[in-house]
Amino acid sequence: MATAIITGASQGIGACIAKRLAKDGFDVVINHYPSDSDREKALAVAEECRTYGVKAECIAADVSKFDQCEAMVKQIKADFGSIDALVNNAGITKDTLLARMKEEDYDAVIAVNQKSVYNMMKHVCSVMMKQRHGRIVNVSSVAGLYGNPGQVNYSASKAAIIGMTKTVAKEFGSRNITCNAVAPGFIHTPMTDVLSEELKNKMLAQVALGRYGEPEEIASVVSFLVSENASYVTGQVIEISGGLSM
Ligand code: NAD
Repeated sequence: MATAIITGASQGIGACIAKRLAKDGFDVVINHYPSDSDREKALAVAEECRTYGVKAECIAADVSKFDQCEAMVKQIKADFGSIDALVNNAGITKDTLLARMKEEDYDAVIAVNQKSVYNMMKHVCSVMMKQRHGRIVNVSSVAGLYGNPGQVNYSASKAAIIGMTKTVAKEFGSRNITCNAVAPGFIHTPMTDVLSEELKNKMLAQVALGRYGEPEEIASVVSFLVSENASYVTGQVIEISGGLSM
């Protein structure tokens, strides 16, 4: 059985990706932030994943921390034997205009959204290299492609992920490891639920399909990218935004 690890999978897009990959037949590791509330939500996600007849395990780790990622990868290798797919999904926002953005809010977003991707790829790639097989999907954002007012920190982290994706695709292609990114637009999740109605309407006016995306619509593209159907796709950024920019 193939094993997939999804970071930040206690809720939102990550939880949905975990359930979709379980449905596809992957044993899943649901990484969650080390807090009681995230643990509780992650356990519920794992229970749903198990209804598809696969193994599902929750592992607490703050993915912005190198050592915690290393320990998590070691545990997965010991418990599951292989790591076939890695989905770097964990992310946060601390939005405000550059003029008001505090240094700690810049650093925090870079640590969780960008450094985490280095931490996870660094440890998982050494496992995948030995297997001579692996699929990595990094969750970027349209903010990383086009920028977004109030998101200097977030768009920097998401643009960086795109560069990292292409570099890892080139470094590990000969080992049969693919590395792609998805760039979601405006997706219905706890992250976007907190936005004002005015801002939501302004954003929707730019979307060709005229609606928010659903987490399932991100999960279905990730499902394709980790599958054998995507065996010749690497180093790509797939925008999933309902036609935000054309
Ligand atoms: P969300 O806030 O619902 O979920 C984010 C998850 O990441 C949470 O489970 C959270 O606990 C986890 N997390 C945060 N910090 C962590 C850490 N240090 N270690 C481990 N886990 C951590 O948000 P979402 O909308 O589901 O976002 C998922 C991903 O999709 C993020 O990378 C986000 O930037 C990206 N994205 C979302 C949208 C959108 O419209 N919702 C658009 C583009 C990109």
